[in-house]
Amino acid sequence: MIISITGTPGVGKTTVAKALGKVLGYKVISDFELAKKNKLILGFDKKMKSYIVDDKLFRKIRLKGDFIIHGHLSHLITNDLTIVLRLSPGELEKRLKRRGWKKEKIRENVLAEILDVVYLDAILAKKNKIAKRVVQIDTTGKSIKSVVKRILNIIKGREYKSDYVDWLEKCFEKEEIFI
Ligand code: ADP
Ligand code: MG
Repeated sequence: MIISITGTPGVGKTTVAKALGKVLGYKVISDFELAKKNKLILGFDKKMKSYIVDDKLFRKIRLKGDFIIHGHLSHLITNDLTIVLRLSPGELEKRLKRRGWKKEKIRENVLAEILDVVYLDAILAKKNKIAKRVVQIDTTGKSIKSVVKRILNIIKGREYKSDYVDWLEKCFEKEEIFI
């Protein structure tokens, strides 16, 4: 089984993927490691401090066996289950600040979280038959252990539904833009 753990940078993908990998005994790999192994790193964007990946060829990678792939591009790899982790924009901003990221990079990523960018991309991947299932989990205020437990329930078919997430509505309610 191939499981993708995706979401905006900082939502907890790597942490959750590693914890889930331990429970399931699956190999855990990041989208970046996968791109590097397949020699698909085209360069480095100095301004945004992020690697540029050959998107077209990356999508053609096929994994065999049991894998958990984590990263905000991981849902572009053919998979059986895509888990989209979500985090309230306020919390996300704090985490990205702790990472020491530049204001511009934080703003871009928090906006992407508010606008459901990765979730919509994962839904598109499902439409294109890259992902068999897509389930969204709101991790705000949830422990890593409880997030892993939910994913295990989803794998076992005990849980199907995605969490309802609408950060924009919350922005309007609180008249707070987070960033
Ligand atoms: P990502 O891989 O999505 O960029 P990480 O797994 O690196 O995110 O997590 C970012 C930070 O958030 C880490 O310091 C991690 O310990 C913390 N973190 C992840 N998940 C949770 C959670 N459920 N509750 C509290 N902190 C978390
Ligand atoms: Mg990560």
